[in-house]
Amino acid sequence: MRIETKLVHAGEPRPRIAGAVEMPIFQSATYEYGGEGSYHDVRYLRTNNTPSQVALHAKIAALESAEAALVTASGMAAISSTFLAVLSAGDHLLAQSCLYGGTYDLLTGDFPRLGLAVDFIDADRPESWGAQLHPNTRAIYVEAMTNPLLQVADLSAVVEFARAHRILAIIDNTFASPINFRPIEAGFDLVVHSATKYLNGHADIVAGALAGGAELIERIRHKANHLGGSLDPHAAFLLSRGLKTLALRVRYQNESALRIANFLEGHRSVARVHYAGLESHPRHARARSLFAGFGGVLSFELDGPASRADELARRLRIPAIAPSLGGVHTLLTRPATTSHAGLSREDRLRLGITDGLLRLSVGVEATEDLLEDFEQALS
Ligand code: PLP
Repeated sequence: MRIETKLVHAGEPRPRIAGAVEMPIFQSATYEYGGEGSYHDVRYLRTNNTPSQVALHAKIAALESAEAALVTASGMAAISSTFLAVLSAGDHLLAQSCLYGGTYDLLTGDFPRLGLAVDFIDADRPESWGAQLHPNTRAIYVEAMTNPLLQVADLSAVVEFARAHRILAIIDNTFASPINFRPIEAGFDLVVHSATKYLNGHADIVAGALAGGAELIERIRHKANHLGGSLDPHAAFLLSRGLKTLALRVRYQNESALRIANFLEGHRSVARVHYAGLESHPRHARARSLFAGFGGVLSFELDGPASRADELARRLRIPAIAPSLGGVHTLLTRPATTSHAGLSREDRLRLGITDGLLRLSVGVEATEDLLEDFEQALS
């Protein structure tokens, strides 16, 4: 089946439960004992094996063309459970610089205390990675498109490098979603998501997901069972409902964001636009060959002082000034004061995140209304 059909039907119980067309909410913490031999098989919400969770596991595995998948209570629960499952004290990780702020904080703030080492790589320069590889390097970790500058790493080189050195290739696919990119098909071992974003798509839950080989997912599930970040049944229901329209939403958002990026790039008050769909993007050709679409997030800088960014935000009528992304509402943030506020100004500027940079997550409103809103606010 094609991905649009999988979004609606994959993983849903057949025969349908009591004939219900939509997967019911299984609001039960525990289930009758059925002779399970292992702690991890006892059906309990935290052990990630109840009907609401199992249906989502099958659906997400199908979407990502993976053997297995797991849902978690947040994107960070998926990411932290993954690292704690695949790394042990004394191990080393190679990670892309300019990661999502929460992941960067975890790697730099918590890793040292756990005896885990990390080196940040320039993901655009594969020739430089070998020098940072150690005998204890276990994995290489990248994002499909970076936040907030929408850089596109040499993802094919990441896969080749991981294969050559027998380490795991792990990718955060939140920004692309399986509509625009399916990393397992491209050779990655493991995909993680903040399902809070495109997968759910309605800004009403926090959730995470990961997908990959069955043995690896089982190992991470066991770790997640101990850490406890499992997805609640009502959030699972909302995630399942949100997923059904993923293709419709993301394709519309791809188109709308491209039109808005083009408009902003041509506007006299805008100094710079970062969006992989623009021909001016330094990795446009690479993004075109990797992705089916360029996503709904872009960032831009205005001419003049950083205070103009706040003034623009005040004058816009449709976007909510709020963190997060990937939902039906258009959201605008200033990364220096939100997602990347945890970094020093010096580190932010080194990564290219200026004080006045604005990140826009394009929702599903009429593109014309958004364009008119930007026109009036900019003028
Ligand atoms: N990965 C990326 C790329 C993100 O943007 C985020 C959140 O903004 C996360 C992971 C963390 O996800 P969550 O907030 O669902 O824990």
